[in-house]
Formats: sequence, structure tokens, C-alpha cells
Amino acid sequence: MKPLRVLIVEDSEQDAALLIMELQKAGYSPVYKRVDTASEMSDALDTEAWDIIISDHSMPSFSSLDALRLSHEKGLDLPFIIVSGQIGEDTAVETMRAGAHDYIMKDNLKRLGPAIERELEESANRRKRRKAEEELRAREEELRLAKKIEALKDEFIGMVSHELKTPLTVIIGALKVAATDGVTIEEARDLIHNAAANAEALAAMVDNLLELSRYQSDRLNLQPKQTQVKPVIQSIIQKFENVSEVHHLTVDFPAELPAAMIDPIRIERVLHNLVENAIKYSPDGGEVRIFGSQRDTQLLIGVSDQGIGISPEDQTRLFQSFQRLDVQNKYDIAGVGLGLKVCHILVEAHGGHIWVESTPGKGSTFCLTLPISDDKQ
Ligand code: ADP
Repeated sequence: MKPLRVLIVEDSEQDAALLIMELQKAGYSPVYKRVDTASEMSDALDTEAWDIIISDHSMPSFSSLDALRLSHEKGLDLPFIIVSGQIGEDTAVETMRAGAHDYIMKDNLKRLGPAIERELEESANRRKRRKAEEELRAREEELRLAKKIEALKDEFIGMVSHELKTPLTVIIGALKVAATDGVTIEEARDLIHNAAANAEALAAMVDNLLELSRYQSDRLNLQPKQTQVKPVIQSIIQKFENVSEVHHLTVDFPAELPAAMIDPIRIERVLHNLVENAIKYSPDGGEVRIFGSQRDTQLLIGVSDQGIGISPEDQTRLFQSFQRLDVQNKYDIAGVGLGLKVCHILVEAHGGHIWVESTPGKGSTFCLTLPISDDKQ
């Protein structure tokens, strides 16, 4: 005997019993429930799983069309067979159009067994087809995403190559000129300084790319140790003072602030990115200020500038990869949109936070917190 879960929509207990007998004759061992109102049917569909619905056409407060609608409303695609007395050809067509799979006359119940077998098979085929279609759609989506990722990668490689090429061109040009006859020692020194500054910018860009790649392959491997942050800041200032004589770099970082538990090379990278941006996105003569204070068990470090600023909408997406804001087109400032993503990764890896406060046209302040080491100095 084949198990079969049947929902019988029928107002007559007697007719339901006849259906069950017929199912048993056809080799089924039915588990069934009889319902004859919308709420009973809705309840049965919500709380139990069914293989098939067998429905009378017309009941005092319900009809097979209502039952069909209810089953479809619940997103179910169960085989639906109407077993009824004579209902006329038009009504039979109407029920089939509404989604009934078969219509059997009550005086011809021997058709029920074969009809159920056929409908169960059809239903299984429909399910298989649906699954195959879903799998096809998922594969197409995967393919579409893979293509999009490929295109993004190409775009990224193009952008990075361009950004790497720019300082390289300057370095090569400066060194070639420095090596020509007739260049004075002072001129050669300036050219070499210029080449060195561009080489440093190149190295910083490569460092950011390496950090991102380490992060993506779960290999950040921070080496935290108790570190006084002021010397780290001073070494950054020194580097940038050689490059940007036109900006006014100031440090307001009290010497008595406690040490922080950080990987100094990584935090130097973070501050390097922030100071570089502060210089890049603010006009010549502007002040770039690095300040610090203690906030409970955290050290707060800020980098503020008097530059172009960032709108509130843009502030929320800044720390994602490759985000460059539209203003860059306007000001034509070079960059790949990687520095802040790397800052975010490294600060969060230290258990800290990074955020920006900014007023467009007035300037920005990037703030970050870092954990203070246990041993307060
Ligand atoms: P990049 O500078 O290479 O474009 P970043 O990740 O360092 O990449 O910065 C992302 C974007 O955030 C920049 O393109 C710029 O639009 C904006 N931005 C970053 N720092 C500042 C700043 N100090 N002032 C105004 N805009 C900034």
C-alpha cells in the first residue's frame, strides 16, 4: 500500500468515506482530513503537509474554485482533483482554467486511482522542472557575477597600473635629468629628492595593496606591542614635511599620553594614509593637524584638515574598497580609493574604531581609537 496524505474538501462525511474506500482499492493507504470551510482548509494547509487535494465542486459555504484560489494564495502547487456530480461542461472548463488538474464524476469513481497516480507523477515532474529552472537561474546569476567581478578586477588593475605609472614616470624623468651634463649639484639634489618622494608614494601604494591582499586571505598577522605613538607621528610628519612644504603640519599630542598596544608599522601606515589624504584634499597653505587624547582605556588620535570636506551621504561609504567620491572628478586628484579601506581594516583589527567628521568646503577630521596597553607609562 502506498502512503498518501489527502486533504478532502467535502461537506458529506459519507462521500468522503466513499473516496477513502476508492483510494484503498487503488492501492493507497490514505491519511486524510475532511474540511468544508475556507478557514478549516486554510488551517489544514498551514499546519500539515499534503500530497493531493480532492475537492467537491459545490458545498454550502465553499466551492472548488474557492479551494483552488486558497491553495494558490498559499503558494502551493498540489495536485487538485475535483470529484463531483454533474457540473456541466462550462463549469468543468472554468475549474480547469482556474488550475484544477482533473475532474471526476462521483458515479465514475474508479477513475480516481489512475488519475491520482498520473497527477502525482505530473506534480513530481513539475517540481523537477522548477528545480532545474531554479538551478539554471542560479548558474546564470553566478556567471553574471563572475563576469562582473572579472570586469571590476580589470578596471581595478587598469586604475592601479595608471596610479603606479604616474610616480614611476616622475622618478625615471627626474633621475635621467639628474644624470645629464650641465646639471648643478643643487639641481641634481632637488631632482633626486623629488624622485625619492615619488618612490615613497609608490611604496605606500604598494603597501596598501599588500595589506588589502593579506586581509582578504586572512593573513593580517598584527604584531602588537606597547608603543608610544608620538614618535610614530613625528616620523610621519618628517616624511611629509619634505614632500609638502606648502601645508602647515602641526602636532598636538601631549607627551604624557599613555602607550598603546599596537603594531607600530601598521598604525604608521594608517596615519600615513590619513595625513596623505589631508594634504591631497586640502588647498596649499592649509593646516593639517594631528592631535591625541585619552578616552578611558582608549587613545584617540585625530587628523584634521581645512580641505574640500565630505558630504554626510559620502561619509557613510568612504571606508569601503575603491570608493572615490565624485568631487575627485571635479578637482582631478589622483588616487584609487584604497587608503581609507586599509585604515578601516587595520584600526578594527586593533579593536579600535575609525570615523570621519566633516563639513563640505570647511574641512574634515578623521578620528580613530586604539587600545591603551595595560602598563600605563
Ligand atoms: P584615494 O585618496 O586613493 O582616492 P582613499 O581611500 O584614501 O582613496 O580615500 C577615499 C576617498 O575619500 C577619496 O577619493 C576622497 O574622495 C575621500 N577623502 C579621503 N580623505 C579625504 C579628506 N581628508 N578630505 C576630503 N575627502 C577625502
